[in-house]
Amino acid sequence: MAVFTPLRRWQPAFRPFSRQPAAKRLLALTERVVKGPLFGCRMCGNCLLQETAFICHMSCPKGIRNGPCGGVTDGWCYVDPTRRCAWYLIYERSLRMHREHKLLEVLPPVDWDRAGTETWGEVLRTARMTGLRNIFIPSRRHGQSLGAALEEKVFRPIRQPAWWKGDAEYHPRAVTVPQSALERELNSGRFVVTTEVTPPLTAATARLREKILTVMPYVAAINFTDGSSAVPRMSSAACSAVAASLGADPVMQISARDNNRNSLQSQAIGANALGVHNILCLSGDSPRVGPAPRSNMNIIDVDSVQMLWILRRMRDEGIYLDGREIKNKPQLFLGAAAAPFAQDPKLQVIRDRKKINAGAQFLQTNLVFDPDRLDPWLEQLDREGLLDKVKILVGISPLKSLSLARYLNDRIPGVTVPEKVIKRLADSSDNFAGESIAITAETLVKLRAKKGISGVHIMPLGWEDALPLIIEKAAHETSDLKGAGQGHKS
Ligand code: SF4
Repeated sequence: MAVFTPLRRWQPAFRPFSRQPAAKRLLALTERVVKGPLFGCRMCGNCLLQETAFICHMSCPKGIRNGPCGGVTDGWCYVDPTRRCAWYLIYERSLRMHREHKLLEVLPPVDWDRAGTETWGEVLRTARMTGLRNIFIPSRRHGQSLGAALEEKVFRPIRQPAWWKGDAEYHPRAVTVPQSALERELNSGRFVVTTEVTPPLTAATARLREKILTVMPYVAAINFTDGSSAVPRMSSAACSAVAASLGADPVMQISARDNNRNSLQSQAIGANALGVHNILCLSGDSPRVGPAPRSNMNIIDVDSVQMLWILRRMRDEGIYLDGREIKNKPQLFLGAAAAPFAQDPKLQVIRDRKKINAGAQFLQTNLVFDPDRLDPWLEQLDREGLLDKVKILVGISPLKSLSLARYLNDRIPGVTVPEKVIKRLADSSDNFAGESIAITAETLVKLRAKKGISGVHIMPLGWEDALPLIIEKAAHETSDLKGAGQGHKS
């Protein structure tokens, strides 16, 4: 049960938006005094302590409600490196308490009307409205324990309101027709290559178009980042629309950092109307890693799992989050990020499973320079029967300089550039570009041979001209690569 957690970092508690009756204020104060020191509670008013092993997940600097973000580094938070990742603490304690089954349910975003208010009274009110007879008599009839009956009849309806109805089940998509050229390519079983083009810093699109046209013949789809590293640029939606107008199949990235629940739904509908069908849902880099002056670093409105849940229901059930019907449902192919080298593959796969259950149809990993290090993660996905439910695109990149290799290794959470790669590059100063392209092509070919990997996502990091060279070099070794870039033409 609950464990007193001394010295937990305090963050300010949320306050109610409207004046509450005196009795509720008194109860809220009591809760704050008790739950604050015991659990690090921030009084979000949407209590999930039972699901999070009695550690308040709102102590995560991003306020993520469905598992750790990809930035967690050896169990420590990358936003505030002086503290352990709140979600790793939750995972570890859940495993110790044999409560890991609680980690899979897709939990709702905060109902901000309830922020700062009491939650104990709500439990009593729900129990009273349901009626003790309706809770306990059917449970005894079905041999259910008292705790399970309370969980089903009282706690679950509070935790999962009718506008959310989250669960721990896998939801295969309702439509069988591929929603995008990328989905069709991935379903074909061919090894797929995608890439990304960095959105421009200016309002002009000539260079953007040029880059899209350069990479288009070689790839099935082109990603456009959404304020990567918390730096403002042309929006992913605008770049995706430009790409769609040129006949490419864009992947629009949406970062939770810059979107709330309303803008997420509006963006998905709007982009879909402009020919964008692939959406990659991300938590987004914290403003902490971006330039000053920094925007709000406290809490995101919806996390990436919740984004997937909302968009999947828009596509499959034709409803907005608030329940309004969507007459022409958006056609979406949904993806999420994966961090295969996070501290413990078992813990990481809990999060990946949740994304897949919520609606992720493809996972795009962060950068991989040592394909064999992927094996523990792939084996764990396989053991849990997830490889059949999701397509995996592994991130790879040509390294343009030694300083970039060292920067990625030292500064980017979850990315390791092995010493042998750095040495090969260092020893090839007269043919640095050729060696870098050869290393990337070799990585691609090794990944091609691994079970469960559907393709690679080449992040050129500003070196788009390297992409054709990598593909041509790798194509000598693996015959079906030539088909990898055909997606956009259909
Ligand atoms: S921001 Fe990421 S790393 Fe930090 S506590 Fe939250 S989930 Fe963990």
